Amino acid sequence: MTDDRRTELAANLEAVRERIVRACEDAGRDPAGVTLIAVTKFFPATDVDLLAGLGVTDIGENRDQEASAKLADVAVRADLQVHFIGQLQSKKAGSVVGYADVVQSVDRPKLVTALGRAAQSAGKVVDVLVQVNLDEAPGRGGVPPADARALADAVAHSASLRLRGVMAVAPLGSDPAPAFARLQEVAGAIREDHPEADWISAGMSGDLEAAIAHGATHLRVGSAILGTRESHR
Ligand SMILES: *Cc1c(COP(=O)(O)O)cnc(C)c1O
Repeated sequence: MTDDRRTELAANLEAVRERIVRACEDAGRDPAGVTLIAVTKFFPATDVDLLAGLGVTDIGENRDQEASAKLADVAVRADLQVHFIGQLQSKKAGSVVGYADVVQSVDRPKLVTALGRAAQSAGKVVDVLVQVNLDEAPGRGGVPPADARALADAVAHSASLRLRGVMAVAPLGSDPAPAFARLQEVAGAIREDHPEADWISAGMSGDLEAAIAHGATHLRVGSAILGTRESHR
């Protein structure tokens, strides 16, 4: 069972890595500038351990309760960078700071304050990405592009948070390229004030090529590596 799963994950991972190499070739980029984050939501700690054995260094989770329970069972926790990528309530900031190295889904001042306080009392410095909403319709998380710079400033002013860049999800059901181009512009504007904030987290299983073409430094890939989540609910 575990051997079969390992074989399956290895093949999926290899296919995703090939897509990344090809997209980087097309974009004239060095694949070393792109970090693959395996999004392990809905999948068990045993998958996380198998992925780490296959060279995965970064994982993404989107729900606090699931992530905190799962990570307690991961044998190789110390070898992994954990990215929190889901919508986050301020009251959960303390819990998330307990296990996340990076919080990618920061989209409002209240959450900056809560994470800053939580990181300070944990004696940690937490990496933060400002999540930008690229959708006309609000509701899937993210700050409007026009407000991203001010929110980035707020993160940078927190002594226990480190601004690393931006994150976004492409709008559902339309060409992701213009959205990722917009994200790249927002990222550039933020870098004028904060040159070290050079991460762009964009691109998932279906659109990682478009994200690489528009400067993504971090890809968040779930189903192309782990399989469809529906069968595991
Ligand atoms: C689930 C999720 C992903 C991964 O999506 P796939 O289409 O399965 O690759 C990426 N980003 C966020 C924010 C997610 O919630």
